[in-house]
Amino acid sequence: MRRVSILGATGSIGQNTIDLISRDPESYEVVALTGGRNVAQLAEDARNLRAKVAVIADPGALADLRDALAGSGVEAAAGPQALLEAAARPADWVMSAIVGAAGLAPGLRALEQGATLALANKESMVCAGALVMATARAHGGAVLPVDSEHSAVFQALIGEDMATVERVIITASGGAFRDWPLDRLAEATPEQAATHPNWDMGQRITIDSASMFNKALEVIETREFFHLDPAMIEVVVHPESMIHALVGFRDGALMAHVGPPDMRHAIGYALHHPRRAALPVERLDLVKLGQFTFRAACEDRWPALRLAREVMATGGLAGAVFNAAKERALDAFIEKRIAFPRMAGVVEDVLNHLSAQSGLIDAPITLDNVTRADHVARVTADTLLAR
Ligand code: NDP
Repeated sequence: MRRVSILGATGSIGQNTIDLISRDPESYEVVALTGGRNVAQLAEDARNLRAKVAVIADPGALADLRDALAGSGVEAAAGPQALLEAAARPADWVMSAIVGAAGLAPGLRALEQGATLALANKESMVCAGALVMATARAHGGAVLPVDSEHSAVFQALIGEDMATVERVIITASGGAFRDWPLDRLAEATPEQAATHPNWDMGQRITIDSASMFNKALEVIETREFFHLDPAMIEVVVHPESMIHALVGFRDGALMAHVGPPDMRHAIGYALHHPRRAALPVERLDLVKLGQFTFRAACEDRWPALRLAREVMATGGLAGAVFNAAKERALDAFIEKRIAFPRMAGVVEDVLNHLSAQSGLIDAPITLDNVTRADHVARVTADTLLAR
């Protein structure tokens, strides 16, 4: 039996992971499940999977969680410290699927106890890729990508010599507004932005797909995961979302990873790695699909892509600043305080402002320094947003 924990179990990735594990309950011992606020979902899954412990991040929800788990034998806990303790419980495989920078510290705890970390939380790599990888190495653990593009690159690289890789192309659907005229974007509402043409994902990542902040994070994540020169990483709009990434080699070959837009493929690949197991995903009928199309990922429409290049050129903790500023700009858009195109402006202003501040972005990449950079970037973004 493999011991597994799911951090962010109540979210979209968490629920897809539970779907896979529930199909084969005899193979898994569920150690910890965590949620943010959704007590009912967390308690239901913890009961069904007979988890050892269920942790809700919201400390005020402990009484409700205890009530919901009464008589089940599942231990209940709440708050950020309990979440870290749950992540540190011995497990063989831990899914990191908390959304945002809040996912970094629990993921590090899981790596410190030697687990294989299935990493959906891209923010961990954006904020502190070097620290995540170093922690895995130091404790004999491994990090496996769960983002579909990174899982695709990972799979296309199996058995290949990295010295022969010329470029990596990650695809983007273009999100909800890919066909909108640029001058209409100022009218876009959060409800419209949260409707994805192909993928069924959480609200925040869906809006980040429309702004391409999600792709910007993924470009940085690609660099961190595969140690690539930023110039080797390209983004192409592929509205059908069937090709997730391509790796180009020095003999001119492009190896593409093709599959339906279903996160259970990448999650299942990470769950069974290095074995390929049968997965309940659709088998593509290429003749029915007919064609795949591609378009340029234009930086006028999606300035977040240009900002990602600037972040990679700056290095250090610029990724942590970028992510935190993006999270606050996204909050402001969701709360209808700013228009859709203003999000990129806010993030750029924060980056410019803090790049000039010595000792912040150029500090060593430690959890404390990431936390500080994240905090300063949020305060700076809030100050700019209040103007
Ligand atoms: P969701 O918003 O659906 O779920 C997020 C999870 O994190 C929920 O369990 C939520 O709890 C929990 N959570 C939220 N805030 C906190 C906090 N402060 N502390 C602890 N837990 C918290 O997100 P997704 O599942 O869509 O995404 C999860 C991660 O995976 C993100 O980093 C995303 O970028 C990445 N990802 C997602 C993909 C997708 O298809 N959805 C694809 C590739 C990557 P609750 O709901 O109980 O409040």
